[in-house]
Amino acid sequence: MQAASTFNTLSTLAERYSDIPREAILKSDLLRLGVSFSPEALKACAQAKPKSYFIFSFDRTEQKDLSPEERRVVPEEIALIGGPYDFKRTIVSVRINPGSPYRITHKEEGLILSLRISPPIPPLGLGVGREGGDIEKICDILLPSFPEYYGTPLSNGKPVSDIAPTIEWGYLIYLTIFRLCQYFGAEEECQFCDINHNYRQQKAEGRPYTGIKSISEILEALSIIHEKDREKSSRTYTVTGGSITTKLQGMNEAEFYAQYARAIEEKFPGRWLGKAVVQGLPESEIQLLKDSGYKIYHPNYEVWDKRIFAALCPGKERYVGRNEWIRRILAGAKIFGPERVIPNFVAGIEMSKPHGFGTIDEAMASTAEGLDFFMSQGICPRFTVWCVEPNTELSRTNAEPPPLEYYVRLLQVYREIFRKYKLPVPPGYGEAGLGKAVFSVSAFMDVLS
Ligand code: SF4
Repeated sequence: MQAASTFNTLSTLAERYSDIPREAILKSDLLRLGVSFSPEALKACAQAKPKSYFIFSFDRTEQKDLSPEERRVVPEEIALIGGPYDFKRTIVSVRINPGSPYRITHKEEGLILSLRISPPIPPLGLGVGREGGDIEKICDILLPSFPEYYGTPLSNGKPVSDIAPTIEWGYLIYLTIFRLCQYFGAEEECQFCDINHNYRQQKAEGRPYTGIKSISEILEALSIIHEKDREKSSRTYTVTGGSITTKLQGMNEAEFYAQYARAIEEKFPGRWLGKAVVQGLPESEIQLLKDSGYKIYHPNYEVWDKRIFAALCPGKERYVGRNEWIRRILAGAKIFGPERVIPNFVAGIEMSKPHGFGTIDEAMASTAEGLDFFMSQGICPRFTVWCVEPNTELSRTNAEPPPLEYYVRLLQVYREIFRKYKLPVPPGYGEAGLGKAVFSVSAFMDVLS
């Protein structure tokens, strides 16, 4: 009955929150529940750009429980388009979940996204276009094309998709330099994060998955992209990885990640806009990042509430502390400029069991307080939709994600506060607005305009 209730929820929320586009509601639901593919759809995906596992698994299922085809050809992203609602193109990161009520199948007209309805229910006011049987077609699906630069390996044989994968429909080069985190084990790892587990499972599956990428590998992969990406679709790069709490190769976190921007900017000055996704760091280290060539600083704060932050980010609480983390975000705004400090939060973990809020109202009040705090100072946070990945601490107590209504209200509240402070669209995210946005792990850019 999950699918039928999903159908009811979608229709009800689309009516209740008519100022939020249906595309953004559906995108949020696909991100929280994941999607499955029929065998015929997987065949059609074989020519598309495959999922690169650019940092976390972002799947609702472990690799070992997927078929060989799912592991190999599921696309990085899909675009929702057309269909009975005449959807505008909306890009969504793919989170595999064979048990999801959402399924991509292959029909004569191409790939379609359907919602499994069983047993059939009568058409509702907003009626999703019915296709007969117990499958509701929602929209058509476009796939990302396989980029030419993915077809040229590095001189050491590694694929570009390992060293410098692109996401956001080719807009962002995602450089996870260090695929592990020095916050390790249940006492230190963020309770929602699977970076260390994902590294182990990708290696176990035999995927080329470099633990620490060298500067020379990065520069070689970027040279291939620079040469083959003739339309210059790629506009930004992110340098990131797990936190460095002691030293890595003799360097602290800022020193380690600064050397990459320095090398990239020296070889390709101004070709891409550089972003550093790192911890809340002391001022001198933030300055080092800026001086090395990064233009955007992402010191992710994960969750606003003080008690929940301490419970879900025990390593960050112990090594830095929530108050100091916030102070460092504000210090970063002085160094980079407030509009160039974009801290991320993982939307939904404030409702996770056992530490989170029990109601959407409480969660929304807390998150709105955090948004108002930052936005009133010109800092525009962004958010990703929490994926309850298996083998994270939170997956033990959260079989299901927070309700879809939480995410729809978050889009509303986020946009309201953004407009209240008349903030500019965050730089480095491409165009905002329905049909134009490329950010694929939440709908915040789809609803801004
Ligand atoms: S700091 Fe937390 S969220 Fe970031 S990689 Fe480490 S465990 Fe994951």
